[in-house]
Amino acid sequence: MIKIEALTKSYHGREILKNVNLEIKEGERVVIIGPSGSGKSTLLRCMAGLESVDSGGISFEGKDIFATRKNRSEIGMVFQSFDLFPHLSAMENIMLAPNIVRKEKEQAVRERALRLLDRVHLMEHKDHYPEQLSGGQQQRIAIARALAMNPKLMLFDEPTSALDPEMTGEVLDVIGDVVKDGMTVVIVTHEMGFARRVGDRIIFMDGGIVVEDVPAAKLAELPKHSRLDQFLSQLN
Ligand code: ATP
Ligand code: MG
Repeated sequence: MIKIEALTKSYHGREILKNVNLEIKEGERVVIIGPSGSGKSTLLRCMAGLESVDSGGISFEGKDIFATRKNRSEIGMVFQSFDLFPHLSAMENIMLAPNIVRKEKEQAVRERALRLLDRVHLMEHKDHYPEQLSGGQQQRIAIARALAMNPKLMLFDEPTSALDPEMTGEVLDVIGDVVKDGMTVVIVTHEMGFARRVGDRIIFMDGGIVVEDVPAAKLAELPKHSRLDQFLSQLN
């Protein structure tokens, strides 16, 4: 579904991603973990077509990610900081991209937005503005907004790390539902319990490199004192 080949990306002359190769197949549930600064967010932003790259390429369903905007619009992304439009209501946030980017019919977009509001359990908040919503509610609206474009691939960048523990659960439940529906997902998270539950493949990044790429079921069999083993023991 998405193929990253020999991807290199620098900021101000410093290499952040170093020759990253990664292929994700339709229906896979990939979890990316790794220390702060290892390049996880940069990789996700590149996959979403939000960053230029120095060399290498990313193709989505066989087409270069930068080839068409339509291609890119089939990749949804959810950020750590929600990033809702503050001057738009929950409903308007969800409807904006389908209306503007896809120029879809108003009625169809409205119906889909209502369905998504129901799915993230926020129907009663549809006319509320982001500042009237809790962090967990804002993040669920951000997920609904990404889903409104009917993406084929969803990228989540630490979707719960800005949330209190009690709100984390409600957001992880919504992501769990998206996963259950068979969506192809890539999730950067430190929530290892969740990662083990929903992920079928774990990628460990360190220093801009993919250090490990293992089936989730094999996580328990890692060699002791490997970098990933050390990283995981620090989390607990
Ligand atoms: P975290 O777990 O803290 O979110 P990360 O693995 O997501 O970390 P990135 O955000 O991808 O790491 O950052 C990797 C490196 O690239 C860091 O050293 C960061 O300072 C640098 N970096 C990221 N974005 C930019 C930018 N827009 N301009 C300059 N440097 C950047
Ligand atoms: Mg990050």
